[in-house]
Amino acid sequence: MANLSLRNVHKIYAGNVMAVKDFNLEIEDREFIVLVGPSGCGKSTTLRMIAGLEDISQGEIYIGDRLVNDVAPKDRDIAMVFQNYALYPHMTVYDNMAFGLKLRKVPKDEIDKKVKEAAEILDIGHLLDRKPRALSGGQRQRVALGRAIVREPKVFLMDEPLSNLDAKLRVQMRAEISKLHHRLNTTFIYVTHDQTEAMTMGTRIVVMKDGIIQQADTPKKLYDMP
Ligand code: ADP
Ligand code: ADP
Repeated sequence: MANLSLRNVHKIYAGNVMAVKDFNLEIEDREFIVLVGPSGCGKSTTLRMIAGLEDISQGEIYIGDRLVNDVAPKDRDIAMVFQNYALYPHMTVYDNMAFGLKLRKVPKDEIDKKVKEAAEILDIGHLLDRKPRALSGGQRQRVALGRAIVREPKVFLMDEPLSNLDAKLRVQMRAEISKLHHRLNTTFIYVTHDQTEAMTMGTRIVVMKDGIIQQADTPKKLYDMP
């Protein structure tokens, strides 16, 4: 069984906007899927349906072997990283990373261990006492990643996580996220409109246009690389 399956998934918004049409994809453990395509092609909507932030109009989504159509976002065994980081401004880095686990009533010593492990992986161990406003853009993005990985979800969802960073930092964080993927050995779904990002990060690239999958293949085959 695939780690994540989308079967005949459709999304029709009010006003009869067909944002996603008959989306079919079987995603295995450890794949790094990049959804790529022009603005408005349905990438975010697809990601948000996987996250449960958007109802699906038709079709089924499975995470592991569980049909999640009617499962709340917090119970889906996923974590999502946004482009605007969505950190809690009044909380320290530590508390930002710990918050999701606290909500789930994870014991404190276990939370502590997970937060410190994640902080080490992301090289933010020295920033745990700071508030988000005292961090650089790259550091904030690391905290957002840290907050996701402490939950050890089955699937990581990322919606243009690097689009607010400058070009140099973007290249750095790309490498960082690829490293994280290798280290965690879990499924990543990454949305971008940036071809270079798709090519350098994806193990499989899904090209969308007008709500439809146009192509889905390895970067090598898609871009005819040697
Ligand atoms: P992308 O992420 O590729 O830029 P989106 O998934 O955001 O594309 O949008 C796909 C289509 O759905 C677009 O035509 C967009 O205008 C439309 N859309 C997105 N969100 C809504 C909404 N809440 N209500 C109505 N239409 C929407
Ligand atoms: P609560 O407010 O829920 O009681 P605390 O913020 O006091 O939780 O933290 C509980 C535990 O988390 C502390 O005992 C400590 O081990 C750890 N902790 C909290 N903040 C930090 C930090 N900035 N750096 C390292 N460990 C921290």
